[in-house]
Amino acid sequence: MRFSLLRTLAYFAGGLWTARGGRRRIEARQLRNLRRLVEKTRRDSPLFQRLYADLPPTSEIKLHDLPVTRKPNLMRKFDDWLTIRSLPLERAREHLRDIRKLAVPIDDVAIFRTSGTSGEPAVIVLPSSFLEYSFGITLARFDRSQWKLTREVRKAGVDVTITGGNGHFAGTGFSKLISRLAPRLAGPSTFIEAEQPIGRIVERLNAIPKIATILTYPSTLTILAKEKEAGRLRIEPALFKTGGETLTDDLRERVRRAFPSLKHDVVDVYACTECLAPSIECSHGRHHVNEDWVILEAVDEAMRPVPDGTLSATVLLTVLTNDVQPFIRYDLGDCIRFYTDPCPCGSPFRSFQVEGREATLVRVGEVTLSPLIFDLEHEHARRIQLVQTSERDFEVRIELADEAVARVVFQEVIQSVKRVFFDNDLEDVAVSESQAPPELTASGKFHEVLPLRGFDSRT
Ligand SMILES: [Zn+2]
Repeated sequence: MRFSLLRTLAYFAGGLWTARGGRRRIEARQLRNLRRLVEKTRRDSPLFQRLYADLPPTSEIKLHDLPVTRKPNLMRKFDDWLTIRSLPLERAREHLRDIRKLAVPIDDVAIFRTSGTSGEPAVIVLPSSFLEYSFGITLARFDRSQWKLTREVRKAGVDVTITGGNGHFAGTGFSKLISRLAPRLAGPSTFIEAEQPIGRIVERLNAIPKIATILTYPSTLTILAKEKEAGRLRIEPALFKTGGETLTDDLRERVRRAFPSLKHDVVDVYACTECLAPSIECSHGRHHVNEDWVILEAVDEAMRPVPDGTLSATVLLTVLTNDVQPFIRYDLGDCIRFYTDPCPCGSPFRSFQVEGREATLVRVGEVTLSPLIFDLEHEHARRIQLVQTSERDFEVRIELADEAVARVVFQEVIQSVKRVFFDNDLEDVAVSESQAPPELTASGKFHEVLPLRGFDSRT
């Protein structure tokens, strides 16, 4: 696997040229790239050959002619899905079983896995073109303030990633892959496993003399803000980047107050392992789709497009730059809403907001509760988790701060949770103390509330 600076520059230059031409050029470019991908996929992927057998010739294909694809079906036929024959699922799985092979390419591709929070983990195959696209297009889409910020932050110190470390996840693996293939593009960086006790994470961060950026999940960032407010965390980073979950305005505000050293508001990255850079957030906080190389469709439950301004039931992803593992109208499961008006930043690319990602709604009988109504904070606790163990039984798990008196903290948290149920006319719900530590998802995300499994398939 080779990272080509020349091809990266081609993505960069092409990306600028496309943007200058406005909507017409963007749409023409997208259609050309789509047909090129469809042509290759029809030729080299036995699965898509069958799937597209009755479609018109590729030169006449439009996006909506193509059937929707879903992860479970594609994964079941993995060996026929790829356009290369040298990477059967068994070979990929063997590689993924060995954590020492994280970010080590196999032949001409890199592989990662998804966390499997919505079912079976998927194996994601990235060719070098995807890496070149990620760098080239992201730089092409930067505005003046983002260039300035990048220059400032590069000199500020170490880039830290805090995500799940128990598997071949792109969260940590992607930057390792870049350092391996293009060391000049990667600055000094370090990785901290999100699964560790908070005290250990704080210690590790405090030991780093100068931190430029921290990339993590919003749920971990909440905890860092709390630790900084409590005076235990002493770092002064220049920038936070988040991804993988919904970043709320409240958290942005809290982080801004807790970390006066920040040079910029929290940068929120909308990404999934299937496509690590489908869009870029502009200085107005909107996510603009890189439409020349990525298509995002907001659709309803029947896979029909929803009008701009309407929240989608799911989103269909098409990645035009990955011709090894085709993602074409691939059901991602996220809920997004396209803006109806042009963005004040002037970008010609369509913009959207992400909503209700990783929604963990709690259902008790006929009542549905948002996880946000529970106040799961306590000055003597580092992390509190509410777990629904059966329809009317909940337990509280707490990672205590060192000086804490466990019994009192548990009592107070349980009281506050019970009050929420009571206020929602749920008087027969039991809330008990658990000695188990708070549980993280496979990729190291922390959900404050874990609803009963099976109630919400997307948790
Ligand atoms: Zn914008």
